[in-house]
Amino acid sequence: MEINDVLRLVRKNIKALAPYSTARDEYKGALGVFLDANENPFENGYNRYPDPRQAELKSIIAPKKGVAVEQMFIGNGSDEAIDLCFRIFCEPRIDNVVAIAPSYGMYRVSADINDVEVREVQLGEEFSLPVDELLAACDGNTKLMFVCSPNNPSGNIFPVEEIKRLLEGFKGVLVVDEAYIDFASQPSLTTLLGEYPNLVVLQTLSKAYGLAGLRLGLAFASKEIMAIFANVKYPYNINKAGMECAKELLARDVQAEIDVVKSERERVAAALASCPCVKRVFPSDANFLLVQVSAARALYDALIAEQVIVRDRSKVKGCSECLRITIGTPAENDRMLAVVRNFK
Ligand SMILES: *Cc1c(COP(=O)(O)O)cnc(C)c1O
Repeated sequence: MEINDVLRLVRKNIKALAPYSTARDEYKGALGVFLDANENPFENGYNRYPDPRQAELKSIIAPKKGVAVEQMFIGNGSDEAIDLCFRIFCEPRIDNVVAIAPSYGMYRVSADINDVEVREVQLGEEFSLPVDELLAACDGNTKLMFVCSPNNPSGNIFPVEEIKRLLEGFKGVLVVDEAYIDFASQPSLTTLLGEYPNLVVLQTLSKAYGLAGLRLGLAFASKEIMAIFANVKYPYNINKAGMECAKELLARDVQAEIDVVKSERERVAAALASCPCVKRVFPSDANFLLVQVSAARALYDALIAEQVIVRDRSKVKGCSECLRITIGTPAENDRMLAVVRNFK
């Protein structure tokens, strides 16, 4: 697809939108007497509105991610970017989206809120990507396709060649959710942005970067799509305190933490695999393991009794008798393992 084909997918009202123009959009200088935004003039650190474009934070994150500032969006968690995809591309009750299943629950919630049909396509054997079925599920009103890679809750990452087949075969926008990419053995798909204008990559500072409490989600796409995101988002979607904290905390090197999580993932996977109640530990490119056991609910309760809380995914189609276990610190993982080892 060409960028103009992608822009044709945008809803008419969004194309025609005259976006809200903030005081800071109309006067961009940093010095002066600011009597243009009805703020309280007495300084307390937060009396001024924050930068609606998040220029400084973007200038820190963009080089880390190997993208241009114009190719990026910062939202109140990835969930804001997911919701914006619906609001920008999907006409309620007319358009539809296709998504893999089992996967992250927010695609459906966001679709339901926006009154947009979701066509879920079950993953294949070993949670493989059903490329042909995904393409077959589309029709002329399919605006978005959601693929989470590495996928939550299965943990596996999909091969780049298969994602490319979707990008080439799909006549809408492919949203690849890379919330867990920093734990993966494969690089991000952001390198494909120049080649595929119908690609939107989602990432987040909530997982590997350790900033879930700040609510900072990232989206990467062509500068044209990112400009539309900027027009549709709330003008001040990211607050000043969050941006300041992020700036300070992004100066840390998180690679050492990521390395511990990855080595713990391999240690925990091997230890779980040798427990009598464990049937299967699925391969993971994320910071969690999907584990199939003999009796998921009973093991979940046994863990809770020892104040170890995991996620029971056993009611999710395709995840029968499965628990999703996040990788914690070595000591936390040992506490979890002690319960699983002794579970009969
Ligand atoms: C955790 C997670 C996110 C992160 O969401 P935020 O709103 O950025 O915290 C996004 N996608 C998936 C698949 C996740 O598991």
